[in-house]
Amino acid sequence: MIVILLGAPGSGKGTQSKILAAKYGFTHLATGDIFRAEMAAKTPIGLKASEYVKSGKLVPDNIVVEMVAGRMEPGVNYLLDGFPRNLNQAEELTRILAPQRKTIDKVVLLDLPRAEALKRLTSRRICAKCAEVYNIYTKPPKTDAQCDVCGGDVVQREDDSEATAGKRLMVYEDLTNPLVAYYKAEQILEQVDASQAPDQVTQAVAAIIDAALAVKK
Ligand code: ADP
Ligand code: ZN
Repeated sequence: MIVILLGAPGSGKGTQSKILAAKYGFTHLATGDIFRAEMAAKTPIGLKASEYVKSGKLVPDNIVVEMVAGRMEPGVNYLLDGFPRNLNQAEELTRILAPQRKTIDKVVLLDLPRAEALKRLTSRRICAKCAEVYNIYTKPPKTDAQCDVCGGDVVQREDDSEATAGKRLMVYEDLTNPLVAYYKAEQILEQVDASQAPDQVTQAVAAIIDAALAVKK
């Protein structure tokens, strides 16, 4: 089973895919998380990706595709979060899956108006140590700028600054949004209203995955 979560930065892909991957026992493959980990560890991939991630641009396809291909094993169910992000990556994904005799089961679009996405991004904060996500309005840490979970420093992601977040939303609209039509044409796209409360979004996506699993049996 392969499920792709699609949506603008700030639409809640990361939050939802962590919950859903745990619920269904899928492997959560999040390219943004992988890049941030590689950057923190200063690996060759991290060093190459750093300037792109920090400025809100897409990392070149060859780097991303090689990284994803190296992490996808036969016989494993995946929840893809942040990949594919443009049409070329979508075609490359099909090529990665073909020898494993896998196809994409569902693509779920987390739909959110641009203004709301920008507000969520610029008010988001994360723990520098364990990556727990906070929001200055809706979920501030209990102690000022200290993570509730691990006590680490709660900071703004460099690419969540107003200017870079706006740039990421433009990149999304130009390059990633065309995937909606692409997967609609393949009749595997489903849409969820991402402005709902997180629990309701989880339920809506879970209903889609349940239906897809029922078809497979
Ligand atoms: P968001 O979806 O909130 O923008 P992510 O954590 O998914 O954040 O991605 C952060 C950054 O990592 C992107 O802005 C981009 O630079 C890089 N990145 C992640 N996935 C990809 C991808 N599939 N192709 C190219 N760049 C990517
Ligand atoms: Zn923490």
